[in-house]
Amino acid sequence: MIQRTIKQLTDMLIVPCPFSELEASVAISGVSIDTRTLRPGNLYVPIVGDRFNGHAFVRQAIDNGASAVLWNRNEPHAPQDVPVIRVDDTLSALQLLASTYRSQLPCTVVAITGSNGKTSTKDMLAWMLGERFKTHKTPGNLNNHLGVPLTLLQLAEDTEVAVVEMGMSGFGEIALLSSLVMPDYAIVTNIGDAHLGDLGSKDNILRAKLEIMHGLKNNGTLIYNGDDPYLSAALAGKEWPFRTRTFGMEPSNDCQGLSMVREKRGSSFFVASDPSIRLFVPLHGQHQVLNALAAVETALLLGMELHQIRNGLANVRISGMRNEVIRTDGMTIINDTYKSNPASAVAALDTLYGLQDYRQKIAVLGDMLDLGQEETSLHAHVGSFADPAQLDYLFAYGPRSASTADCARKLMPPGRVFHYSDKQEMIRDLLRHIDPNSVVLVKASRELMLEEVVAALLQSK
Ligand code: ATP
Ligand code: MG
Repeated sequence: MIQRTIKQLTDMLIVPCPFSELEASVAISGVSIDTRTLRPGNLYVPIVGDRFNGHAFVRQAIDNGASAVLWNRNEPHAPQDVPVIRVDDTLSALQLLASTYRSQLPCTVVAITGSNGKTSTKDMLAWMLGERFKTHKTPGNLNNHLGVPLTLLQLAEDTEVAVVEMGMSGFGEIALLSSLVMPDYAIVTNIGDAHLGDLGSKDNILRAKLEIMHGLKNNGTLIYNGDDPYLSAALAGKEWPFRTRTFGMEPSNDCQGLSMVREKRGSSFFVASDPSIRLFVPLHGQHQVLNALAAVETALLLGMELHQIRNGLANVRISGMRNEVIRTDGMTIINDTYKSNPASAVAALDTLYGLQDYRQKIAVLGDMLDLGQEETSLHAHVGSFADPAQLDYLFAYGPRSASTADCARKLMPPGRVFHYSDKQEMIRDLLRHIDPNSVVLVKASRELMLEEVVAALLQSK
């Protein structure tokens, strides 16, 4: 089928290489933009980026088994020994190929966007759906203008449901991705502060996320967090050309979570529509229960039974470095070093505070990037959640986190809050403060690479 789609693409773009030649000589199975992961038989799509031009790697792609290549018309030295499909722009051609392919597939597609929790929700939903359907999900966090088309092109012809994550850093991006994906169901997890620097205000973030409606099918369903004031104000009580459904802990939601209990290895809760079935998600924090509710609601809309959903959810494994709980002899680490912003940092502290049976609780919080002009007050805001009844030490790292520490010092006893600009110095001090049976939360924006702290803690054992 992918071969047929590529033929349609060549017809659409009126390229000089007639597909029949291509068809006679090669079979194309899949599409790759990266010669390191390209599989024999793939169509190689060279992408022109800021630092690299994929056309320079074409020889490697052919050596690794590429059976054909896309090629920007204006690039010199096109290869002679494999079929070449010349296009104006390989990125647009990749996206067109993906949307054409998607439009021919019978599968149901769920798209997920929002400020926080996209990957977590995607993983939960895919685990649930896997109990009943042949399911494919975005690998890892490949949620941008390249990752989304590649995810679509990975769908097998017999895939029943695809779960596709969509990220963005500015206006127009989700609209484009949604138009490629043409979702039957679109989930918006929440509106937070991530990308405040790029977009300037939360209203703008809301508008950018709601671009997901752009490609949503007319008979499709928009599923959103009804507890989120931005989403409710924009969406509730209005007429839309699609169905809307809400999830959350408030009674007004279509899918309401009830009686959440923090347990040693995760959280349990019920959904109001069937309080006879207790659900368990092996992750800590109310934010993960909200993500689970988004997934439960979608799985129910897709016709799944709650007991099947329960089995999938109980077994979910989330992609790494997000709320990842690592237990060693005498210490527990919550590795949350994948990303940070005010909402997710506060959620992580709340999770830490909810854990029982630890002698000592420590938070290591690094800078949150891309918060724009409000960054000082937003770092202080996180510091204002330092609670001396629930937290023993706060280690803040990075220039922006000085205001987190300043604010926390006003709340915590003396000698409990430290600030560092040198990571190794912080690690040395941290190791000195750890007691047996400590739990340590480590969280910062990706660029701060606080996984080095996690590695040092593990090595110290
Ligand atoms: P990205 O934009 O980088 O793709 P994402 O939206 O996919 O991120 P996740 O990877 O699921 O988000 O989670 C990233 C971080 O946000 C983790 O620290 C996680 O604990 C936290 N988080 C997840 N869900 C929520 C939520 N609903 N509210 C607040 N924080 C959340
Ligand atoms: Mg993600």
